[in-house]
Amino acid sequence: MLTPLAALERLGAHYGPRPWYSRDEPLKELIQTILAQHTSDLNAERAFGELWGYFGRWSAIAAAEVDVIADVIRTGGLARQKAPRIKGVLQEIHARRGEYDLAFLRTLNLADALEWLTTLNGVGPKTARCVLSFSLGFPCIPVDTHVHRVAKRLGLIGPKTTAEAAHAVLEAAIPPDDAYRFHVYFIEHGRGVCDAQRPRCAACPLQTDCPSSKVVPLAKRGNAAGRRQSAKVGRNKAAEALELRERRFKASPEVLAAETDGRS
Ligand code: SF4
Repeated sequence: MLTPLAALERLGAHYGPRPWYSRDEPLKELIQTILAQHTSDLNAERAFGELWGYFGRWSAIAAAEVDVIADVIRTGGLARQKAPRIKGVLQEIHARRGEYDLAFLRTLNLADALEWLTTLNGVGPKTARCVLSFSLGFPCIPVDTHVHRVAKRLGLIGPKTTAEAAHAVLEAAIPPDDAYRFHVYFIEHGRGVCDAQRPRCAACPLQTDCPSSKVVPLAKRGNAAGRRQSAKVGRNKAAEALELRERRFKASPEVLAAETDGRS
């Protein structure tokens, strides 16, 4: 059975280095992550471009009518849910900090930064970790649908462990310096190999140790081949025996009859 650390090393050898870089300033990362909920990164980026192109300032978004925000971000999907969430988060950040800026989070430790973000309405542990990891380089592992699925299939978390609970399990098992790499490898692996519907186990570098692998283990394949071979040998032996019997009958029908009766 693989450990999270062993899986990390194997995927690292397979995918190569994935150095961290700051993707965006933290408030933009937060709003973009909310826009990415239940849709692709591409849709979320497009919706963010439209949001920023229309309003151009955080304060304008915070002051806008929810319906207008929803209309502007509709290409990102679930606009009716995301619009009030975005407006509410911006208003709350301004109320707490007096500005639209989350750069101060880098002065906190991980637990406090998580606490600060997850007490914003509509910001869960995964969204908070996306901001802290991707923008600010905190050592945490956002568990999205890909990370959750791959970890479960590999047996790194229990079959009933929720994505939310998986954060603590995986972060406890991975050294802080490797947290970002772990997240990136698992996302990459979940998207490209360990697909939700059709995992490509034959191309997976973890296949030999994965309890969910769809590839028939070599040992079992050997047994099946062995069974086929035995059946073939059995059939050949029966044919040989019949042939021998016929030859002997032609030579001496009496001897064969005696053998068959058990008298010879
Ligand atoms: S062997 Fe298959 S199920 Fe297991 S991690 Fe690889 S692709 Fe996923």
